[in-house]
Amino acid sequence: MSVWAILVAAGRGERLGLDRPKAFANLGDEPLLAESLRRLDACPWIDAIVLVAPPEWEEPAILLAEEEGCAKVRACVAGGETRSDSVRAGLGEVGDEAVVVLVHDAARPLVSDEVVERVLAPLSEGWDGVVPGLPVGDTLKRVGADGGVEETVSRDGMWAVQTPQAFSAAVLRRALFPSDNLLQATDCAGHVEAAGGRVKVVEGDPRLLKVTSEADLETVAGWLA
Ligand code: C5P
Repeated sequence: MSVWAILVAAGRGERLGLDRPKAFANLGDEPLLAESLRRLDACPWIDAIVLVAPPEWEEPAILLAEEEGCAKVRACVAGGETRSDSVRAGLGEVGDEAVVVLVHDAARPLVSDEVVERVLAPLSEGWDGVVPGLPVGDTLKRVGADGGVEETVSRDGMWAVQTPQAFSAAVLRRALFPSDNLLQATDCAGHVEAAGGRVKVVEGDPRLLKVTSEADLETVAGWLA
């Protein structure tokens, strides 16, 4: 079974307010991208990696992969305007031999072999996709632009979903590449669900925190120390 990983790192990360994309923000003394790249490259379940870099940052991304000795990187492509566009660009570089495609956000540096194993296992039971998640503990409210509460939403059965997300390669291709597909979703599972696929949620990891602010970078750096 050939497992390919797409590492999406093409977000601008405007909330960090840096002069460079989020993937190249400093996590300790390395670019944020280095941590997830190294971890996926060392993961025994992954055979090949496609790196999706911010437009015009493909070369620094390739150099970083070389510096880190990441031998599984097969291609590096520029991402698109949205996350869905970036995943499509990455999927275009995935080899025909891929049976499973794993998609991971570079903004979640602390990906582990354990979570990769958890998302891969149910695929052999016939699920089309598997995503890690955590049950929502806080009360959920829909809030209007003026800060006023419009609705309290039941948190019953609600999960906050993370990456890495694993899919049958054929299912992901069908979900992302129909000729008229203009759908945008904030995760790949959303595309597979929209195409009628069955997606399972397995236990995620609080350490898969998605870095969006300077404080998140400090939190992750603290976990690594
Ligand atoms: O923007 P968001 O928080 O959803 O980003 C999640 C992941 O998707 C990040 O790793 C980011 O680099 C990636 N992304 C991308 N291309 C975009 C937007 C986000 O590769 N156009």
